[in-house]
Amino acid sequence: MFNQPEKILQSYFGYASFRPGQKKVIDHILHKRHTLAIMPTGGGKSLCYQIPGLIMDGTAIIISPLISLMKDQVDALLSLGISATFINSSLSNSEQQKRLKEIKTGRYQFVYVAPERFESGLFLHTIQSIPISFVAFDEAHCISQWGHDFRPSYRLIVPILKQLHHIDTYVALTATATEAVISDIQELLDIHPEHIVNTGFKRENLSFHVVKGKDKRNYLRHFLEKRTEESGIIYAATRKQVDGIYEWLRREGYSVGKYHAGLSENERQRAQTQFVHDETNLMIATNAFGMGIDKSNVRFVIHYAMPMNIESYYQEAGRAGRDGEPSDCILLYSPQDVQLQKFLIEQSMMDDVTKEREYEHLQAMINYCHTHSCLASYILQYFNDLEAIEACETCSNCTYRKEKIDITEEAQMILSCVKRMDERYGISLTAKVLRGSKDKKVRELGFTKLSTYGLLSHYTERDITERIQFLIAEGLLQSVGGRYPTLKLNAKSVEVLKGKRHVTMYAAPIPTVETADYYYD
Ligand code: ADP
Repeated sequence: MFNQPEKILQSYFGYASFRPGQKKVIDHILHKRHTLAIMPTGGGKSLCYQIPGLIMDGTAIIISPLISLMKDQVDALLSLGISATFINSSLSNSEQQKRLKEIKTGRYQFVYVAPERFESGLFLHTIQSIPISFVAFDEAHCISQWGHDFRPSYRLIVPILKQLHHIDTYVALTATATEAVISDIQELLDIHPEHIVNTGFKRENLSFHVVKGKDKRNYLRHFLEKRTEESGIIYAATRKQVDGIYEWLRREGYSVGKYHAGLSENERQRAQTQFVHDETNLMIATNAFGMGIDKSNVRFVIHYAMPMNIESYYQEAGRAGRDGEPSDCILLYSPQDVQLQKFLIEQSMMDDVTKEREYEHLQAMINYCHTHSCLASYILQYFNDLEAIEACETCSNCTYRKEKIDITEEAQMILSCVKRMDERYGISLTAKVLRGSKDKKVRELGFTKLSTYGLLSHYTERDITERIQFLIAEGLLQSVGGRYPTLKLNAKSVEVLKGKRHVTMYAAPIPTVETADYYYD
């Protein structure tokens, strides 16, 4: 049984060899160990459970949070001659009943279901009556409340599952997991640390870019003109923004589709199919699009606005280049994006503790947009992927080889201003004080009398803001608290103030290769 995987890989799937981590995961599952697989998007997670599912006796239950994905997966298996089916709310009641009866005969090797299925007594009864090889949680980060896409119905499955004593193997698979999410999944599913296979998140073929242009449409126009033949996704923050970009690009003659939750199931399905089959080149979408989409030749993913956290960003950006070919992940940043994300957090139904955590995650995302360090390393460091910290040499920061200037003195002015304002105010007011603004609030609070008032009056407020954000992004200053964060000094700030640490930054804002010619417009 244990030397079968290679044969199946070649005979059923037609691949010559395993990708990193696959063999280990398969091995654990075959030994009936609870297993957690953390692999980047495109790493080949599906094969990790499909191969053991073919070898082991009984039916494998695959829980997937995305209905749209199930049919594709099942069709793919059927086309290989493997018996598989799915049950979800897209099927009529009678069709669901029919499939349950078929499942009861034990004829399926794979059954895909949505988490909600475990709330149905009839379903539980059915799977209790047949041998089960294992239960796999696809997109397992959705199980954890520390994840960016927590689905309570997903988590509720676990206690139910533990009462079904004939199920003795759980498999969790995800492309994104922070330390907190990993230990949460591990605890919940009783996964032994030795049975976690983490191949890291590094995607060598992706180049990351942050663009802080004034005019996002202008950037897009220039970019798309050069990449007309390629497939790409443009993520926008709202449905309205999707509609706007879609209409504009359609008028310009591009081959575009759009996808957001405001469209009917039919419209969405059609747009997705056309994009996956290369009938349209560009997909303009909200974050509702993409989880589990198996399209290998996406050459670029552009975020028209900054997403709410690094997990979402890396997952969405990671839909580029699943075939391993060089691909670009571009984030178009503007300060308004931050306001929008804060608004969304405020509007949400989350409790205060969760909101606070979301604000922290948002701050890490903002820092990504302002750091002058390697962007790929920044992301990997965020996920604590410590082995992989090496400059990528392809991101917009690594490729911008201009000389850095020493801004230690300016940094000291900023930090000392923060201190003099009692570490109780945010970026905007601090920038105003340093600029020497006659703003009402600055006057009312008596900040015109501070020794740091007007110290950077030769800069614009925007330049000062940029420097403050740079200091935060480099960890030399902290921005603490939810909706209205305040600036606070930390140990590194004190080192800078004492002259024990020097601060350098690129002389001008960092343009990307593609944008250099119109970056300063
Ligand atoms: P993930 O779920 O990790 O994002 P998939 O399971 O969808 O990735 O796999 C991505 C692509 O890689 C699929 O087209 C799959 O068929 C292919 N693939 C998986 N394993 C291998 C392998 N060992 N060799 C070649 N291609 C593979």
